[in-house]
Amino acid sequence: MLEDPSGVITIVDHKTAAKAYSTRDLNENFQATVYSMAARANGLAHRELLFRFDCLIKTKTPKFEIVYTSRTQEDGTRASRKIMAVWEGIEKGVFIPNTGSWKCSGCGYQSACEQWLEGGQ
Ligand code: SF4
Repeated sequence: MLEDPSGVITIVDHKTAAKAYSTRDLNENFQATVYSMAARANGLAHRELLFRFDCLIKTKTPKFEIVYTSRTQEDGTRASRKIMAVWEGIEKGVFIPNTGSWKCSGCGYQSACEQWLEGGQ
């Protein structure tokens, strides 16, 4: 986290990505929303907050990009509602496979997941 002379706080995250972030990627990045929520909940509620991604883009000729986004209180409220809905599902034992995830290839539940998708328990 950085603070500039005018008092603006910037949360910085370092990323590698296969392609440059689009405006949509930036606006909808859930991690940026949750980090901003955490910063506000930990004493920065009344400070101007920015979120910065320092991205190494792994294209044929790699490049480094610095991109900014920000989140409002309303973005936090929307994220909280999603988080609470997911938590409610977990408590009720609702687990929906996210088979497009990059985590699947190394996941220890892969065979159980496949079995469930094919109609098993
Ligand atoms: S294989 Fe693992 S990461 Fe992929 S959907 Fe199933 S449980 Fe989730």
